[in-house]
Amino acid sequence: MFTLDLKEIFKISDRFKGSYTLQPSDVKLPPDIGEIRKPVKVNLEITKDKDGYKLKLKIEGYVELECSRCLEIYEKDISQEKTKLLRNTLKGEGVLMLKPKDLEVTFMEEPDKVSITDLVREEIILSIPMKPLCNPNCRGIPGYDVEFEDETERKIGKKESSFAILKNLLTPKGGK
Ligand SMILES: [Zn+2]
Repeated sequence: MFTLDLKEIFKISDRFKGSYTLQPSDVKLPPDIGEIRKPVKVNLEITKDKDGYKLKLKIEGYVELECSRCLEIYEKDISQEKTKLLRNTLKGEGVLMLKPKDLEVTFMEEPDKVSITDLVREEIILSIPMKPLCNPNCRGIPGYDVEFEDETERKIGKKESSFAILKNLLTPKGGK
């Protein structure tokens, strides 16, 4: 549905611009990665270059992730802008691929055809961290002693508890 036939498009024009709204069911992420629940807005601009096409891709949207510490579900902004090169898969061997610095190359599965949903899905997956955190200072699940608890917190905890013991000792017992 969202596949562009670049050969056809560039017969009549030398620049292609398009805006799309992808529904969650179009993007469909692998279930263990995250979930898209809101439509994703996509703007793209494609121009022809010497060896293929140059693509400017703008994505606006959110993905729902599970925090790896507190296990809460949170929303992450996956909005981004990228410039990529689109190339047909190489048939011959021994061809040296040169790519301009800082530009990623995406190979088209079918010659001169590009699937917008595939492109967008790839970028979204790349922008999802391996260990998602709802907040960089997420402290995990309250009451659970979790491995990542740092030394400072532990020391404060100890101080508090020794203070409590001391206070208990100093408090006169039994009243009058
Ligand atoms: Zn969290």
